Amino acid sequence: MGRIIAIANQKGGVGKTTTSVNLSACLAFLGKKVLIIDIDPQGNASSGLGVRKGDLESCIYDVLINDEDIKGVIQQTDVENLYIVPATISLAGAEIELVSTISREVRLKKSLQEIKNNFDFIIIDCPPSLGLLTINALTASDALIIPVQCEYYALEGLSQLLSTVRLVQKHLNKELMIDGVLLTMLDARTNLGLQVIDEVKRYFQDKVYRSIIPRNVRLSEAPSHGKPVILYDAKSRGAEIYLEFAREVIKNG
Ligand code: ADP
Ligand code: MG
Repeated sequence: MGRIIAIANQKGGVGKTTTSVNLSACLAFLGKKVLIIDIDPQGNASSGLGVRKGDLESCIYDVLINDEDIKGVIQQTDVENLYIVPATISLAGAEIELVSTISREVRLKKSLQEIKNNFDFIIIDCPPSLGLLTINALTASDALIIPVQCEYYALEGLSQLLSTVRLVQKHLNKELMIDGVLLTMLDARTNLGLQVIDEVKRYFQDKVYRSIIPRNVRLSEAPSHGKPVILYDAKSRGAEIYLEFAREVIKNG
């Protein structure tokens, strides 16, 4: 059975897209068949995997709003076993358009029903908000990964995310569970990073993944080459740690 995992945190710049792209690529590298769904109007996961958005005839917007069959929107990537449903800027309108749409919270879930079992993992890269796009992702998912940046105010805003998760569990998707909290962009040279790790572990306890993602310049360079880090620089620390994280996610599943 395919496992659907949303990568969400309404804060921007915490590593959602970096985690979605590199977790997906590493799962594929480990032999899993993976689909990444870009549900952020910025489309950073799409460009980070080399999708030329100008050439696209349709994207996740058409699936959510125009009832287009998701199968026709899936593209192969340069990574073996990794496929993508891309997003373009047209998705920016979807948040508003969804409001007046029938079954607006379950559109993504419905579109995935038919293809769910064609993949081992489906990873959804969420936008930095708790609007209907993120609600669609949480409603469609079996599990949630929350990236948290090792910075001041790391926990700020997480109570809003957790109360949204509880609402989704209560009304839309009682199967949804928090798989874990992923600490990202750790600068090991500072005490601050270590303090944040302590603080997040105190709050989330055994829900914090053992893998902690350090700041790594290769991770920030790879997207401009349209590649996940294991293709861009397989020997980098970034590639090693996301591979370790992918193994942890497989074990949890
Ligand atoms: P989000 O999707 O949550 O907005 P991103 O994954 O796009 O966050 O990350 C924000 C910025 O930080 C991007 O420029 C990305 O390349 C960079 N970045 C993310 N993770 C790392 C890391 N571990 N090391 C260095 N740069 C990172
Ligand atoms: Mg992003």
